[in-house]
Amino acid sequence: MSERGPAVVTGGSRGIGRAVAVQLAADGYDIAFCYRLGGDAAVQTEKEIRDLGVECYHAPCDVADLSSVQAFLGTVEEKLGDTAVLVNSAGIVKDNPMVLMPAADWHAVIDTNLSGTYNFCRSAVFGFMKRKSGTIVNISSVAGVFGNPTQTNYSAAKSGIHGMSRALSKEVAKYGIRVNVVAPGFIDTDMTSGLTDKARKAALGMIPMKRIGSPENVSDLVSFLVSERASYITGQVIQVDGGIAF
Ligand code: NDP
Repeated sequence: MSERGPAVVTGGSRGIGRAVAVQLAADGYDIAFCYRLGGDAAVQTEKEIRDLGVECYHAPCDVADLSSVQAFLGTVEEKLGDTAVLVNSAGIVKDNPMVLMPAADWHAVIDTNLSGTYNFCRSAVFGFMKRKSGTIVNISSVAGVFGNPTQTNYSAAKSGIHGMSRALSKEVAKYGIRVNVVAPGFIDTDMTSGLTDKARKAALGMIPMKRIGSPENVSDLVSFLVSERASYITGQVIQVDGGIAF
C-alpha cells in the first residue's frame, strides 16, 4: 500500500475511465476502480495497472445505487487506505428525440451519469473534509455544454454535473479540496464505436481538428488536474474536444 491514498475511478474497466486509471497508476497512485459488468476488460485493465508497480482493487458496483457505492468505498479504504483522488467516469447513453424517449431511458441516464456522480462525491467528501485534502474530477461531456439533439437525458445529466461540481467546489475549497469537470467531445471508445459512417462524418464536420480524440487525450488532463500543478484550479469545466462547435 502506498503512503499516498488511492485514486478511485468509476467506470474504470473500459474507455476513458480505463485510460484515467492506467495514467494515474503511472503517476504512482494505487488504483481502485468499479464497473457494472467488468468481465475481461476489467481483468486486462488490472494487469496494466499492476504492471506499473502499484496496487489495484476492482469490483462491480452500480454507481446508481448509494448503498453499493458506500460498501465499495468501505472496502477500498480497508484494502488501500483513505481515498486521495476521485474520478467519476461511469456513464451510459440511451439516445432518442425527446418525443420518442421512454421515461425509463430518461431515468436510467440521469441515475447513472448524474446521481452516480452524486453518490460517489457524497460518500467520499466527508472523509476528504476530515483529512483536509482530496481532489475530484467528474467527467461530463460537450453535450452538457451545448445540448445535443437526441440526447436530452444525457445533456441534462451532464449539465447537472457542471452545476453540482461548481457548487461543491465552493463548499469544500476551504478544506483544501478541489473539484473540477472534464467535458470531452467525441472520443474513440465503445460508446462511440456504434456511430454510423454518416454520424461519424457529421461529427468530424463539427471538429476543427478533424479527428476523433483518444481516451489518453482526456486522461492527460485528468492527471494534470489531480496533481499539485493544478493546485489553484477548482470549480472549472474544461473541454477536451478538438475545438468542437455545435
Ligand atoms: P464506455 O462505454 O467505453 O465505458 C463506460 C464505463 O462505465 C464502463 O467501465 C462501464 O462498466 C461503466 N459503467 C456504465 N454504467 C455503470 C454503472 N451503472 N455503474 C458502474 N459502472 C458503470 O464509455 P466511455 O469511456 O466512452 O465514457 C466514459 C465517460 O465519458 C462517460 O461518463 C461518458 O458519458 C463520457 N463521455 C464520453 C465521450 C465519448 O465520446 N466516448 C464523450 C463525452 C463524454 P461495464 O463495462 O461493466 O458496463
